[in-house]
Amino acid sequence: MANLDSLKWTLRQKAMAMASSPTQPLSDSQYDAGFDILVQGSGTYQDFIVPQLSLLLAPLFNSRTCISALEVGPGPKSILGCLPVGLRRKVKRYAAFEPNELFATRLEEWLCSTSDTGSPLPCLEGPPDVHRIPFGLDSTTSTATSTGTSDGVERFDVILFCHSMYGMKPKHKLIERALGMLLERPEGGIVVVFHRDETLHLDGLTCHRTASFPTGVIRVADEDEALDFFAPLIAGFVMHDADADKGIQIEWRKICRALAHRDEAHPDHLFFSSPEIMAAFTQHATALTELMAQVPAVSGANAVKSREARLHHPAAIIRPREIGHVQQCVRWALKHRVGLTVVGGGHSGHCLWPNVVSVDMSAFDEVHIFTAGEEGGTSSSDSGPLVVAGAGCKSGDIVRKTMAAGLTVPLGARPSVGAGLWLQGGIGHLARLHGLACDAIVGAVVVSVASGEVLYVGRVPSQHRPAVAVRPENDGDLLWAVKGAGTNFGIVISVTFKAYTAPAYSVRNWIVPLSDNLEARLRLSDFDESVARKVPRHCSVDAYLFRDRGKLRLGVTMFEVSTTRLTLETPTPMPTPLGTILGLEDNFEIVDGVGLFDTEMYMSGMHGGHAGGKTSSFKRCLFLKEIGSVEVADILAAAVETGPSPFCYLHLLHGGGAVGDVADDATALGCRDWDHACVVTGVWPRDQDGTEVARAAVEWVYSVARNLLPLSSGVYSADLGPDPRDAELAAKAFGPNLSRLARLKHSSDPGNVLAYACPLPKVPMEPKLIILVTGDSCAGKDYCAEIWVSVFNTGSYKTLRARAVSISDATKREYAAATGADLERLLRDRAYKEQHRPALTTYFQDQVRQRPRLPEEHLLDVVHDAAVDVLFITGMRDEAPVAALSHLVPDSRLLEVSIKASRETRRARRGCQGGDGDRNDNDSKEDSNDRPSLVFSNDTIGNEAAREFSEHYLLPFFHEDLQRLANMVRPVPNFPRRGIEFRDVLGITQLSGGLALCTSLLQTHFTGDWAKVDVVACCETGGFVFATALAAQVDVQRLALIREAGKLPPPVISVLKSPSHISSSASMEKRFEMGRDVVPRGASVVVVDDVLATGETLCAVLQLLDEAGIGAENVNVMVVAEFPVHRGRELLRRRGFGGAKIQSLLVFGGA
Ligand SMILES: Cc1cc2nc3c(=O)[nH]c(=O)nc-3n(C[C@H](O)[C@H](O)[C@H](O)COP(=O)(O)OP(=O)(O)OC[C@H]3O[C@@H](n4cnc5c(N)ncnc54)[C@H](O)[C@@H]3O)c2cc1C
Repeated sequence: MANLDSLKWTLRQKAMAMASSPTQPLSDSQYDAGFDILVQGSGTYQDFIVPQLSLLLAPLFNSRTCISALEVGPGPKSILGCLPVGLRRKVKRYAAFEPNELFATRLEEWLCSTSDTGSPLPCLEGPPDVHRIPFGLDSTTSTATSTGTSDGVERFDVILFCHSMYGMKPKHKLIERALGMLLERPEGGIVVVFHRDETLHLDGLTCHRTASFPTGVIRVADEDEALDFFAPLIAGFVMHDADADKGIQIEWRKICRALAHRDEAHPDHLFFSSPEIMAAFTQHATALTELMAQVPAVSGANAVKSREARLHHPAAIIRPREIGHVQQCVRWALKHRVGLTVVGGGHSGHCLWPNVVSVDMSAFDEVHIFTAGEEGGTSSSDSGPLVVAGAGCKSGDIVRKTMAAGLTVPLGARPSVGAGLWLQGGIGHLARLHGLACDAIVGAVVVSVASGEVLYVGRVPSQHRPAVAVRPENDGDLLWAVKGAGTNFGIVISVTFKAYTAPAYSVRNWIVPLSDNLEARLRLSDFDESVARKVPRHCSVDAYLFRDRGKLRLGVTMFEVSTTRLTLETPTPMPTPLGTILGLEDNFEIVDGVGLFDTEMYMSGMHGGHAGGKTSSFKRCLFLKEIGSVEVADILAAAVETGPSPFCYLHLLHGGGAVGDVADDATALGCRDWDHACVVTGVWPRDQDGTEVARAAVEWVYSVARNLLPLSSGVYSADLGPDPRDAELAAKAFGPNLSRLARLKHSSDPGNVLAYACPLPKVPMEPKLIILVTGDSCAGKDYCAEIWVSVFNTGSYKTLRARAVSISDATKREYAAATGADLERLLRDRAYKEQHRPALTTYFQDQVRQRPRLPEEHLLDVVHDAAVDVLFITGMRDEAPVAALSHLVPDSRLLEVSIKASRETRRARRGCQGGDGDRNDNDSKEDSNDRPSLVFSNDTIGNEAAREFSEHYLLPFFHEDLQRLANMVRPVPNFPRRGIEFRDVLGITQLSGGLALCTSLLQTHFTGDWAKVDVVACCETGGFVFATALAAQVDVQRLALIREAGKLPPPVISVLKSPSHISSSASMEKRFEMGRDVVPRGASVVVVDDVLATGETLCAVLQLLDEAGIGAENVNVMVVAEFPVHRGRELLRRRGFGGAKIQSLLVFGGA
């Protein structure tokens, strides 16, 4: 499929060749028509731009109460206006540069819309400031409001280059100009560029983050009129002369039709590939010179083997000569909050990344051998020979040097492959006998990307421990991670390998012609069952499926390892099944470890020896069992048939033996239960790098990998990187170890310095459950929190991690720094803290006066640093904290548990249970407009009551039934409007068992007593369904049905209800009604509803109940799903209904 760039080039060439008239830029309306086709035909916005931008901006938006934004070239619609509503609401000031008059007018109309759907940026504090000129080097948006800035230039939190930087020159200067327009205080502003192409040449600028969307596609109707609008937009001009324009239109249509891809499912459309990238820059983007002054750099990427990597344009390649240089790189990256890539052997596509600094380790190329006993330092029970290899060594260096000492290390098949191999696994011909390369690692020296410190883990001979190196606390964890996932946790300087006696290898090759796919399947099945499964572990047999001169072939190589002398004259006999199945071998040789590198069939035997070596390749590797099964063999055979170039092939590396002796969780690698590692290899002639041919081969690799994925027993993480197509493969790498790795990544690389290595899942930014433990001084808040933490950490939910933190520690820290008080004593010495309490309180209040959002900042700080599933927070000072704060942590369930203890108990305990007490020592304030989620009476002695409480009320939030219910809620993106991810909560009832499950959970999660409930009230439609089933189940006799006005017969009471976030009409207020005498005065009422979002419906319901004489404090509310981002609880509290106790079964982030 041609991409837009090649289409543009061809269209322009044609126009030049015709040269019949001068060209002219498109008019506003021509641009408008072409742009419309481009946008309509592209999934880029919803599949790439909006999700990536939301992800990138969420931390910034969440940390500020208001955001000012500038968009460059937004077209008729603001991109920010398409973000989830929670983010859009933060935008208080908006400006744009949009030179197209039509677009500018429509943009203003959209932003100022008073229509039903309202403005996409509903919280703007002033009119949008749309400049109808291009953004230029001297552009400013100075207005009357910018007089506060020292230079009169208006500044922004976010500047967005919306739709490619085509035609904008010089690009890097324009980005620098934008960087100069970011707000300096508070730091953290961001310039984001979306560009429709795979590369942006921005020399001298370093990216904060990048993302790519290589699979973007534009779909255009195959109609003359559509093409006549589309082609000029892509070419960038029309012909001045009308006749010439007509002539070129005819030619351009032909070109579009000739270059486009067609899809059977959409015969009326043409498809063009349209890869897109996002690059984000902060004020640190120009900090490269600082690093270049400290460390040696190299020009050009010639040492890098991967052609794919060479097409990327790194910000710089640094070649450290000593560990200190590596530390400087890391410290620089941490200071400027940018990522780094690392180059080992340079075989992966992501060791260089656009606008990212790359650290080339090639200077660390020494190999040291320690025979038994020479190691020095601490004695070890395992006294075999060791090899210390620098991270710049290649496999060939290690094999050659160790062989001279009669030793070897199990590595891979090619001599030029580097540290990426042994850090991520390392499958080679010794794997069945000795294990993978990572299994031989017993120690490592690593520069921490969290601190820049030098660490050593496991066994490192004392001579090779740098003087500054320290053993980290999590030594075991880090060594475990290095063995299979070692590219994600630090920059590895060297590893220590266990070494083995160097063997000789006998190598036999067969190439078997296959008549068709059926024969391929039968042969593979025979090979698997009668050969691969039968040979002893000192033998391994690899298979290849490839095409040669159009014919399918099965290649087989058998490697036999022997430490006794082998000669050609005295070969070991060939295992019988091989001869029977494959016949006589085509060749046979005996080689040493170095000679082994030249025996690879893909280097010597296939396609005339790798097509004369003038090819480039792209690989992904999956682990398979039973390659001879019909399902697997069919996919393998079909894959080779469909390879876009005749050189594409599959390599099946033999596993089992010692590979499977290691438990899945013993090393980070994880996947051990496989018989073959299937390397799907796309190959194309080197002179076609960067062309459609290369792109097709890469797409073929991904497509074969996707087909095999459901049948695979895991994925090899080597080569997986930031390409979004790798994400689903990475999700199957590392077997059961993913969540441990994710946690370790969070703590070992908190700044995501190694952002471009194999993607690991993010530790959820927010814990699943956050419990604010409140109550009076000495009621036992810290004490109870610790008990509950231990229940979670040691109880039946062993996979969960819990932790308790005091939110007031941040204030104590700041107070100690400001006043000289002893921080340690403030944190741990109760008497000392009591002494400082009044001053601390005054200090905190002063701080809040200066920074009114301080409590929110403190909450976000503790939550983001938590890295646990359950977080208990003590020391809260806020009133009604759940209502006030839950929108800040919308992906978590936020609860308040209030600890009560009598005045006597608290007096008696003063000084005993230590710790807590940030509220005054008054009796509990009973605020009728605020009810905690749960109350725990802490009057008894001992832990038992607290433990029981957690088992009864807290652990059930992790019951699998709740997760089952959550899984039943289908997300529907952009419904009913763009930007809303609708959750089909009512859809639960349409799934088998859904309503019964939901009803039973509503019943058991209720913290009150059903026997004391008089009425279940509910509002149409969702409420009716759930409430009816629930009332029947819990035997509540009376239902109060609340309906829209006009549907219930009189007498009724009625209230007005404002529209909710998903209402189709912003101005549509509704009237709700309830039978006047349905709810007896003073009754105990439970309101049941499907969703709590903005809270408008619930407010109307509570208001009706209030009119019926039921105060909110007598009402319990049970909802199936809550969306905290809409701040429904806060609305209820503002309207005086905070006394109602609200419980929700499920909590969903997002809009
Ligand atoms: C021709 C060829 C043959 C291959 N044969 C085999 C084989 O037989 N067995 C096998 O298992 N695999 C094999 N592979 C896959 C190979 O293991 C991966 O491509 C591996 O990532 C290459 O490592 P590298 O150091 O050469 O590449 P690089 O691109 O330099 O590095 C790969 C990854 O490791 C990271 N990295 C490198 N050095 C360090 C360091 N010091 N600290 C932290 N991170 C680092 C890089 O940042 C990158 O993410 C082969 C690949 C090719 C291209």
